[in-house]
Amino acid sequence: MRIRFENCNLFDGVSAEARSGMHVLVADGQIAEVSDSALSGTADLTIDATGKTLMPGLIDAHVHITAASPDLATLESMPVSYVSHWTARNLGQMLDRGFTTVRDVGGGDAGHRRAQEEGMIRAPRLSVSGKALGQTGGHTDFRGTSRTDIGDLQRRHTPGLGRIVDGIPACLAAARDELRLGADFIKIMANGGVATPADPIDWIQFTPEEIRAIVTVAEASCTYVAAHTYTAKAIEHAAVNGVRTLEHCNLIDDRVAAILRDRGCFAVPTLVIYDCLDRHADAIGLGAENRAKNRLVRDAGLASLEILARAGVPMGYGTDLLGWMHEDQLAEFALRAQVLPVADVLKSATSINAKLIRREDLGIVAPEKTADLILIDGDPLSDISVLSGRGERVETVVQAGQIVKSP
Ligand SMILES: [Zn+2]
Repeated sequence: MRIRFENCNLFDGVSAEARSGMHVLVADGQIAEVSDSALSGTADLTIDATGKTLMPGLIDAHVHITAASPDLATLESMPVSYVSHWTARNLGQMLDRGFTTVRDVGGGDAGHRRAQEEGMIRAPRLSVSGKALGQTGGHTDFRGTSRTDIGDLQRRHTPGLGRIVDGIPACLAAARDELRLGADFIKIMANGGVATPADPIDWIQFTPEEIRAIVTVAEASCTYVAAHTYTAKAIEHAAVNGVRTLEHCNLIDDRVAAILRDRGCFAVPTLVIYDCLDRHADAIGLGAENRAKNRLVRDAGLASLEILARAGVPMGYGTDLLGWMHEDQLAEFALRAQVLPVADVLKSATSINAKLIRREDLGIVAPEKTADLILIDGDPLSDISVLSGRGERVETVVQAGQIVKSP
């Protein structure tokens, strides 16, 4: 299919500004031409983009596509069939918001990726970790502090987001098992979590030896490890032991930000989930201790963006939303724009996230790149609110050169 966008405002995913009066031709799944003069030749579809902004399809580097409820402890007991239908609807809604690619960091697996690749579901293209790995009492352990059952701690065959592993042999085996099952990378929990019952935010999770074992397996399989971390201590612990992408990073400091920069790591802040959990704490029945943990990381969020920017750490766009809160997936833009230049926030969700997931054919509008594009009614660089809500202003979405949403 050949699609011609005429007279658009173009944000290419890498420049500091948009260019007006641009023309873009999509052919055979790729961007064929980008020009400041009118393009000749035939097209199956010509779109007058006057007053609209064309930019790369959005990429969210931190999602949980199977998180069918904000109460993650209930996920384990949900029927797999229900969760897979919920996930399909969730993915379709992400596409409607303009996300043409997402990276799932706990829950999404090779089956979801295959269903998208085969065109069975309307969905962003997927990079998946399978189940996240966490230690006993860590951020994949939802048993609560009064449950004494050991249960099947290797629960792979549930809709839960993670599995529990302790010790180097178990870490090696679980990482290899996730890769066997088709994981694109490995996710670990290296710090206490907001939603789990037994792990304060300042607790470090996994030993250096356990993390290095998992990193060794990932790198031997030509991939990398992502880690859930909040505190400077936990971020340093993960990064110096070989983790490549550091998720959340709310409580980072200047010294540790410099370590991330020097080691070529990425940070993936996810401010919107803490904002959301705080706003809806009553509705989801968040306990007093979890609420206090959430306040702590929420309040540090904006400062962490400034620390990361000052140090020059590449920052991906992430959201980490759960259940019905996914409707706020675009709200991360406005939160970040409070302290960062809008163009930098847009780059996080396009070219930086493309590098992060090792798909440099995405996240940029240039000849020979994959044609994942969105056409927005308005200009996000001057008014970030055009990227909000359910994506009402995201009029057209093109994925691999095909129209997947139109006005
Ligand atoms: Zn997460």
